[in-house]
Amino acid sequence: MKKIDDFRHKGMRLKMIENLKSRDITDPNVLNAMLEVPRHFFLDSSFLQFAYEDNAFPIGNNQTISHPYTVAFQSELLDLKPGHKVLEIGTGSGYQAAILFKIGCNVYSIERFKGLYQKAKRQLSSLYYSVKLFHGDGYLGLPNEVPFDRIIVTAGASYVPKPLLNQLSIGGILVIPLGDESHIMTVYIKKSNSDFKKIEYNDFKFVPFLRDKS
Ligand code: SAH
Repeated sequence: MKKIDDFRHKGMRLKMIENLKSRDITDPNVLNAMLEVPRHFFLDSSFLQFAYEDNAFPIGNNQTISHPYTVAFQSELLDLKPGHKVLEIGTGSGYQAAILFKIGCNVYSIERFKGLYQKAKRQLSSLYYSVKLFHGDGYLGLPNEVPFDRIIVTAGASYVPKPLLNQLSIGGILVIPLGDESHIMTVYIKKSNSDFKKIEYNDFKFVPFLRDKS
């Protein structure tokens, strides 16, 4: 079925953007990208009327697309500029990757579920968003593509995988939700190969960052 994006959807996105601004999201790169990307394309059509509410929705394999606020908050913490080489762990629906792409980044993303990887690939290419997608284990990062200016983890991790810190460029930023039950949004800024500045933000709830493929 052909997906439609018209003035009604744009209107819903404008409301979503107002809501994000009222919650202190200010980065124009992030707000503009979220205004442009049709979030409802990344959800089942049965969720259309809810696509722009601040909610997470099932995308298959027991996984969810992140809340718009979470996408905006993580994206803002990344302090993104067009041209940044960015690695996302947990492609899921592909929506967060689409936002990174719209900002003008060179985007790489890894997903452990083959079905989600394939669906995201179809969705992103139907919009002509050229994102490099990989099916594999995000704990390992992408050693053949290093270094990355930015890395974003979109699943809740109980610890920071060493490969991800190693694969950041100097001055690079990693954003990762850390914890077991709930997840503290955590930022690591790479000062040198052995020195990281760590900053902690609020609690969020994510689906788990899983080590082994099931
Ligand atoms: N960024 C996604 C959010 C998806 S939820 C979006 O915009 O829709 C988190 C995703 O991380 C899920 O799709 C899950 O399958 C994936 N994931 C969990 N553990 C992983 C791992 N070890 N490697 C790669 N992906 C993983």
